[in-house]
Amino acid sequence: MSWQEKSDLIQKDPVTCARNFEHMVQLFIKDVLKCTAMPLGEIADSFYGVEFQQRGSPHIHALFWVKGAPAYGKAPDDTVVHFVNKYVTCINSQSDEMKDLVNLQVHRHAKTCKKLGHNVCRFNFPLPPMKLLSFNLLTNSCMKRDSLR
Ligand SMILES: [Zn+2]
Repeated sequence: MSWQEKSDLIQKDPVTCARNFEHMVQLFIKDVLKCTAMPLGEIADSFYGVEFQQRGSPHIHALFWVKGAPAYGKAPDDTVVHFVNKYVTCINSQSDEMKDLVNLQVHRHAKTCKKLGHNVCRFNFPLPPMKLLSFNLLTNSCMKRDSLR
């Protein structure tokens, strides 16, 4: 099926497409994240929002609360770093199959990078490589969140 044929089908029935995406998200949470292997640990709660990219592709931004996870600001920083580093990496030296998946997540500049009068990427890409987790981004986002309360 060509891209145009897929686009035409989606435009004819966007509700079914949105319902299917929601169904796939629920399956991913139930069958992957909450499966007996518990790849992220035991998930106590979750929250997500669905966003649509310019081309209409849905994606989620999600938060997962993991039982026993060290609390940022309460547990020692190295404990939090160790926990996060178990699940997050910027190393891109996996198998060819993983490289294909990782490449789907690599930032490529788009029109949105320079909207609102930005001359350079407003998301600050390319980012410098980091060997270890840095709390600068986490601290900044927590400060922004706290200032909204
Ligand atoms: Zn960009």
